Amino acid sequence: MSTIFSKIIAKEIPADIVYEDDLVLAFRDIAPQAPVHILITPKKEIPTANDVEAADEAVLGRLFTTATQIARDEGIAKQGYRLIVNCNEDGGQEVFHLHMHILGGRSLGPMLAKK
Ligand code: 5GP
Repeated sequence: MSTIFSKIIAKEIPADIVYEDDLVLAFRDIAPQAPVHILITPKKEIPTANDVEAADEAVLGRLFTTATQIARDEGIAKQGYRLIVNCNEDGGQEVFHLHMHILGGRSLGPMLAKK
């Protein structure tokens, strides 16, 4: 299933791209929830975390090394940040093209909202 992120990767619709290589694209979230809110997505269409395969290990590793580099570039590495991958309904996933959120630039509070 093709999503809005596939269109961003194909440059069919604009995004504020901060990093790109052969495996991943990183761009600023359209509705940021923190001063730094960037999405890092594999160029390969992997719908959810449930669809990850052993053959995807290289691209999944690239998500992390890209997050590390972005945290440094955005000046949030020392203070800290949060990496999030949402999956399906209970995880609150809205776009079904696997992506990692990098959030920082303020204290993010508890990991989950209190019930
Ligand atoms: P999810 O809930 O799937 O983990 O997160 C999807 C994220 O994508 C949301 O934070 C949402 O604001 C962001 N988003 C949705 N559509 C667009 C878009 O067209 N452009 C950008 N840059 N971000 C988007």
